[in-house]
Amino acid sequence: MTKSTLIGSPRRVLHGTPVVPGVVAGPVIVPGPRVAPPLDDTVIDPADRDRELQAFREGTKAVASRLQARAAVSSGAASEVLAANAAMATDRGWLGAAEKLIAAGNSATAATAAATEQFVAMFTKLGGLMAERVTDLRDVRDRVLAELIGAPEPGVPEPDVPSILFAEDLAPADTAGLDPAMVIGLATSLGGPTSHTAIIARQLGIPCVVAVTGLDEVAAGSSVLLDGAEGEITVSPDAAAASEAVAQYRLIAERTAAWTGPGATADGHRVDVLANVQDGAGARVAAETSAGGIGLFRTELCFLDRETEPTVAEQSAIYREVLDAFPDAKVVVRTLDAGSDKPLRFAEHPHEANPALGVRGIRIAARDSGILDRQLDAIAAAAEGVSRPWVMAPMISTAAEAESFAAKVRERGLVPGVMIEVPAAALLAERILDHVDFLSVGTNDLAQYTMAADRMSADLAELTDPWQPAVLSLLARTAVAGAAVNKPVGVCGEAAADPLLACVLVGFGITSLSAAASAVAGVGAKLATVTLDQCRRAADAVSQTADPMSARAAARSLLD
Ligand code: PEP
Ligand code: MG
Repeated sequence: MTKSTLIGSPRRVLHGTPVVPGVVAGPVIVPGPRVAPPLDDTVIDPADRDRELQAFREGTKAVASRLQARAAVSSGAASEVLAANAAMATDRGWLGAAEKLIAAGNSATAATAAATEQFVAMFTKLGGLMAERVTDLRDVRDRVLAELIGAPEPGVPEPDVPSILFAEDLAPADTAGLDPAMVIGLATSLGGPTSHTAIIARQLGIPCVVAVTGLDEVAAGSSVLLDGAEGEITVSPDAAAASEAVAQYRLIAERTAAWTGPGATADGHRVDVLANVQDGAGARVAAETSAGGIGLFRTELCFLDRETEPTVAEQSAIYREVLDAFPDAKVVVRTLDAGSDKPLRFAEHPHEANPALGVRGIRIAARDSGILDRQLDAIAAAAEGVSRPWVMAPMISTAAEAESFAAKVRERGLVPGVMIEVPAAALLAERILDHVDFLSVGTNDLAQYTMAADRMSADLAELTDPWQPAVLSLLARTAVAGAAVNKPVGVCGEAAADPLLACVLVGFGITSLSAAASAVAGVGAKLATVTLDQCRRAADAVSQTADPMSARAAARSLLD
């Protein structure tokens, strides 16, 4: 049990990585203490080493079977992570390392701690997903240590009022048993968006922020307001403002749940609200939402694991699955955007010092158009007799590239368009529109190339923010160029997933918004609350600003 009294802490705002959206307020709870890994270096008498070994084996077996039992009564991702942790407790490599240490004279507890650190070092060195498993490994260690010294199992307390759980990181065994009615928010100081805390929080729908700086300075019992969409935690918030924020979020959530499309402003100005997908399964998930079609099918994501180029027939079957998910709707297929952060082995990228500025996207076709030609054949074959998809090329920088691409697409009876991701293309949108039937602005790359800031760099996230006025200015001129010749201009980068920014984009003249399926309803619902005139006034106001913060504030004042 934890105390529910509020402890006075100075008001401050902490920031982290947003994982699960939602706004909640309540007192902080923290997990119970874990057994400190023993530092003792006592050498066990050879006669007693067998006893230590026995204790270690029984301890790990007990922990594994407890985790397995919990996995059996859980479901989905919770069950999977519990089973994976049970497997970790019986991993031959880890057991072997500890048993070797025991045979050399270490106590069972010291061997458990030391063997774990060997594996932690190995996982950390491997980085990425493996490094995120370190918390799971340490959780197994702590459970075995508690078992060995007869201490209670470490874990999350059961609060008596709805509370927000703060921790360094949470092990799956902790998160899997959470009751979302009582643990209404989660925040960790470690962990990435793919950590187990994040996976379970998503499954349980608990608003969650990870990698929060300064979290460990907040005492249990402190009152906090957590915003899982913004990745923001306010410590000791004004009580009335906190309740207002929670109520406001509930209202938006209800409005979002009730939105059924089609995309339009409150005064009936139609805007296609579409989904971004990466394969047939994703397209079927999108079809369950109120998305009016597909605004971006990232075809390269279907083939990241391929050594050799998929045949036309194989590609055609995959594309057909996506077309079939939206039989009577608009589907925009993007040709392979290979290269940079999405290398395709069969596209044989040359080694480049700076791949984001190298041979990627449509540039691959300049050397050899075979892969592009065969992909267009496959798209045409998939569409035969069922639909007439729009097909666009990524990474266009010149009107000549657009012209040659459009000719190939038209030859096959498809509708040609290009992405506007390079500032040069935005600046020459009018010339490009001489050749294609539509444009789609990829704000992720447009921000990267406009701001000369790597989109993968967390340090430069402020520069790659799509609210950067320079990025919005290029986007606005692209929309104006499209309107002048009555050709559609959509947005399919992350900017379209932000409901507030989506309204500003409509104000600029953008005709369709395409976002991850999970963001579609939020965008559609927000758009339905504002008029076209409001959107236009917000776009004008944003155009006068000089930084993302002022741009957001200007938009909020006219659209919220
Ligand atoms: C973009 O750059 O905004 C875009 C939609 O393409 P991707 O994110 O796949 O590069
Ligand atoms: Mg892109």
